Amino acid sequence: MPRFGMVIDTRKCVGCMDCVVACQTENDVPHGFCRDWIVEEVRGEFPVLSAEIRSERCNHCSDAPCVKACPTGASHVNEGGVVLVTHGKCSGCKACIAACPYDARFVHPKGYVDKCTFCLHRVRKGLQPGCVVVCPTGTLVFGDRNDPESEVSKRLRTRRWKVNHPESGAEPNLFFLR
Ligand code: SF4
Ligand code: SF4
Repeated sequence: MPRFGMVIDTRKCVGCMDCVVACQTENDVPHGFCRDWIVEEVRGEFPVLSAEIRSERCNHCSDAPCVKACPTGASHVNEGGVVLVTHGKCSGCKACIAACPYDARFVHPKGYVDKCTFCLHRVRKGLQPGCVVVCPTGTLVFGDRNDPESEVSKRLRTRRWKVNHPESGAEPNLFFLR
């Protein structure tokens, strides 16, 4: 059984937002919303400053608070551990939005809650997620964490990394290389 995850190399990301635009096009994300986004963080005090740029999205958490909070079963774990929302089952109650530590969800104008799907419709065809394909710097690497030979597994073995909000206990599957 695969366990999909994504590695994001914060040293390579230039904040061009190609990943955001590609996702909006691939997934027909309505104007004014996004399933992935860019965070720019500046640390330190002038003149000793450092900056980090992160391409963020749903973490497809292994112990997903959104799935536990959903009263209708619309939010669920699909193949490869990908967390999805069944639109027809979603009542729009927003319990999942309140439970998500990553602010990864939004209410689609059609009334259901929406978010990143790791482009599972593409992955099932053997393709990479839209954001990964377009990134001009090779920042984003998607793959199977259960396969020790996958590029994701290799990078996690050989590089220093962190996750966002480890204190949440949600066991996120987005890893930021440092
Ligand atoms: Fe960063 Fe790549 Fe997204 Fe551009 S496309 S913002 S380089 S992750
Ligand atoms: Fe759910 Fe939020 Fe985790 Fe995604 S990041 S699986 S929406 S809790």
